Amino acid sequence: MEDCIFCKIIAGQIPAKKKYEDHEIVVFEDIEPKAKIHLLCVPKEHFAYLSDMDGVRSALIGRTLQKVAKLAPVFGLKDGYRVIINQGDNAGQTVKHLHIHLLGGETLPF
Ligand code: AMP
Ligand code: ZN
Repeated sequence: MEDCIFCKIIAGQIPAKKKYEDHEIVVFEDIEPKAKIHLLCVPKEHFAYLSDMDGVRSALIGRTLQKVAKLAPVFGLKDGYRVIINQGDNAGQTVKHLHIHLLGGETLPF
């Protein structure tokens, strides 16, 4: 997707502080962190919304969550973390490329 900022990060066209990458996902630091540790886990396939999920994509999201759980200690999140997906305007979704927020590194306020 030409105008998608996360597709550009995935393609290496704009910089990001990448923490993990494999053939189907990339994990990088959020540019405006809302917690001491705030990472974005982003499937390389471009689709905008959780509601765009089909069977293949649901398996991809499942594997992504499994990797998050496995990698959490490596990311400094061994004491717990929060996983968030914003869907659409009411949730404040600003980037229309599905991503999973991973927040932690401290006691979260709510
Ligand atoms: P959302 O509001 O769920 O769409 O989340 C989008 C997130 O992407 C926000 O937390 C932004 O701070 C973050 N973000 C936007 N542009 C960049 C970027 N170039 N590098 C890293 N994170 C970004
Ligand atoms: Zn994209």
